[in-house]
Amino acid sequence: MRIDVVSIFPSYFDGLTLSLLGKAQDSGLLDLAVHDLRDWTSDRHRTVDDTPYGGGAGMVMKPEPWGLALDQLAGSVAEPVDGSSRPTIVFPSPAGEVFRQSTARELAGREHLIFGCGRYEGIDERVFEEAAGLGEVRLISLGDYVLNGGEVAVMAMVEAIGRLIPGVVGNPESLVEESHEDGLLEYPSYTKPSVWRDREVPPVLLSGNHGAIAAWRREQQLERTRRRRPDLLAD
Ligand code: SAM
Repeated sequence: MRIDVVSIFPSYFDGLTLSLLGKAQDSGLLDLAVHDLRDWTSDRHRTVDDTPYGGGAGMVMKPEPWGLALDQLAGSVAEPVDGSSRPTIVFPSPAGEVFRQSTARELAGREHLIFGCGRYEGIDERVFEEAAGLGEVRLISLGDYVLNGGEVAVMAMVEAIGRLIPGVVGNPESLVEESHEDGLLEYPSYTKPSVWRDREVPPVLLSGNHGAIAAWRREQQLERTRRRRPDLLAD
């Protein structure tokens, strides 16, 4: 999978060279490139923002650098005849659809993702309209709160998507049993020692009875989801 990220703070993404996603890049499973939006400016100050039409607080990201960046990056991957490599262009936004495990799974199936990190009051609206001519456009929110910029949201999305690329996580079974994969939260996990500070591991986990362990874990998933996230059971 190819992922391009455009930001005015490219060094935010240094962390993506670590751990599993770093290894995925080393082994060629993930081709990740981070770009500085200012490289597509042409003035001496490398300006990416301006005052909002209609007035109001804050600045808005100018359309010109975004237009040039997206034109270049969307055309950077060779397109098969059927057009299937048209990129999916994701703009993180608190006003977008909420990012879920199902979104991560869907996007993990794409060949080319481009992420455009907003700053200030956001990006000139015409950029989203223009981008729709280059690929599928998605405005995606990390949650119902406002961040200073899209970088942290994109870091989270790239990590959630990247670990679903086949081969990135060594044991694929560990992906199946996780929270949100089947609409429930994961059951509690324990490791050695079996007694720690007088706290015992639930005896069923030491029983060796796989059926009983599976039943106990399922009940824990339901109980935990009912208690912490009843909204998931209502869906
Ligand atoms: N004025 C915008 C609004 O009210 O919808 C918020 C702009 S925010 C300060 C600047 C940038 O941070 C946004 O363009 C977006 O890229 C990012 N951002 C902020 N909150 C986010 C969230 N919950 N999810 C994803 N991205 C977010």
